[in-house]
Parts: sequence; structure tokens; C-alpha cells
Amino acid sequence: MKALICKEPGVFEYQDIDKPILSEGQAIIKIERIGICGTDLHAFEGTQPFFSYPRILGHELAGELVEFDGPGHFKKGDKVTFVPYFPCGSCIACRMGKINCCINIRGAGVHIDGGMTELISVPVKSLVMGNGLDPDILALVEPFSISTHAVNKAEIQKGEYVLVTGAGPIGLAAMEMAGIAGGRIISMDVIEQRLAFCRDVLGIEYVINASKDPEETIKEITGGDWPTVIIDATGNKDSIMKSFSMLAHGGRIVMLGIQRDEICFSHPEFHKRETTLMSSRNALKTEFDYVVKCMRDKLLRVSSYITHKTKFTRLKDEFPRLLDPANGVIKAIVEMDL
Ligand SMILES: [Zn+2]
Ligand SMILES: [Zn+2]
Repeated sequence: MKALICKEPGVFEYQDIDKPILSEGQAIIKIERIGICGTDLHAFEGTQPFFSYPRILGHELAGELVEFDGPGHFKKGDKVTFVPYFPCGSCIACRMGKINCCINIRGAGVHIDGGMTELISVPVKSLVMGNGLDPDILALVEPFSISTHAVNKAEIQKGEYVLVTGAGPIGLAAMEMAGIAGGRIISMDVIEQRLAFCRDVLGIEYVINASKDPEETIKEITGGDWPTVIIDATGNKDSIMKSFSMLAHGGRIVMLGIQRDEICFSHPEFHKRETTLMSSRNALKTEFDYVVKCMRDKLLRVSSYITHKTKFTRLKDEFPRLLDPANGVIKAIVEMDL
């Protein structure tokens, strides 16, 4: 079968590889759609930490269950996605049930080969049922689950102000999920086109350009209280550091994006607010199932995120274009055409 292999930074190549053989507790999925995201870009560019080459990328996947070994409510032909990070099951995080931040976690398309191929073998227990969903949408369960995990960590109360900074796909999904959780969403970014998406497509009431002294506006919107929750999806150091002073007293910050530098903040400002600071990594199976439910109930505007589509056999040539912000890309989806 064919796979698209990232041989080294900047180099993709189609290669014939062996088909996976069914082993104990595993399932084999025929890939139908692949979502492209920042992780893939960083891997391709060589800026993704913990990454070794050659590697098959792709972790936002939708497909059909071909065969599987083990119990479960699945049958051959089911449309599925899966939780693409595989925990060790025995480290301290796993023993606490926080398998999303397992010490030895292996992510498909990052630490081990992912889904830019015809067939993939994954543990049965990672499978997520997706029957009835459009495959394009099913491929986006993973990024929505990432955002859902951050929203769950924030434990949003009905009617509270939630500032989400960064209107990339993960931030946009966080805005939608936080809205479902009952938050009043304030969306912030520096790209006008993305702010327009928040306003016109997602129907977000408060949309702010971060480059235009946003503090006064945020203070005004919240009646002088400031937001009680801030979810950072920028992965931008300056933006993260600024958020500490835009938080309500008693509020909490969830850092969903990641960047490479150290961050610092004023201890007195942090202290006087009794700030709760959290990070959010990956997502749990229950969150994948919840996202599927929200998609089935049509609570999310997922299909509007898909601005670019291509075929697998053209992916090698089209990949750079799919991630260039100048093309107005929010989400690109690859259709398997083998
Ligand atoms: Zn992703
Ligand atoms: Zn573990």
C-alpha cells in the first residue's frame, strides 16, 4: 500500500509500505480523510520537538473499520475516528487516569507513524464511533476534542465571561465549545479575516483585535470585572504574558497553545487575583465521544472551518499551500483517492 512519508524536514515522498497485520487488541482502519494542522507543518518544517524522521504524518483522521480484534460495540464497515495518542497505562499520570499527559505517550503522526497512508492499525480501545457523520467532519473530531479538554478544565459556569485568545482552528473550536458550556465568549486575535469568521460565522458577540489596545474594550464588555476565564490558543509568548493582567480576581487561565520560551508574570498580580493557572494537553476519549455527540446534534459549525480540500495523490505538491496563512486557510482536509 502507498504512504506519504516525510523523509526529512521539507521532503515528502510516496512509498510502498507493508500493510498492517491484525494483532491482539488492534483495529485496522481504511483512511478516508486526513485533517492537516500546525503539528504537521512543524514536523514538515523540522521545528517540531521530539520528532524523528522518516515519519508518516497525520493524526486528524476519519475512516472505515476494516477488521479488529477484541470486544466493543463496533462492527466491520463502521465509520470511525480514534484517539491518536497512546498512553503507557502504567506511569503516574496514567495511574491517575490522566492518560492524556502520560509520561511515555506516543502520538500517531508524531512519535509513531500516522495516517497519511491507506491503512492504519490502532488499539481497539482508542476507537471512536462516527457512523452518520460526514467524513470531512469526522476527521475534525480530534482538534475539537483538544479544545474541549481545555474548556472542561476551565469548568465554565453559565453566563461567565470567557476570553479566548487566538482564532486558529483550536481557538475557534474552544470558542464554540465554551459557548455550549454556557460562557459568554470574547474572541481575540490580530487577523481581521479570522475575527470576521468569529463574528459572521460563529456569531460571537464580542470580537476584539488584540493589536488595538484591547484592555479598555474587555474591561468595558465585562462591566469592569474582567473575564473570569481566559483560554489561550495563541501559543504566543507576549499574548500569554499579557493575559495575566486581563483576568478577573478569582479567575482561571488555561494555556491550550504552546510555545518554546519561558513565560513570566508579576507575582503580586498573580497573587492578588488568587489566579488558577492550568495547561491543557491532548484530550480524553470521553471528550472525543462528546464532540461526536455535539457534531451529531449540529451544535458546531465544523464544515465552515474547511476552507481547503485536496486529494491524497496531490498532497505532496499541495502541502505547503495548505498551510500558508496568506491563503486564508482555516482547515484543510485531504480526501483519500487511492
Ligand atoms: Zn492536529
Ligand atoms: Zn503513562
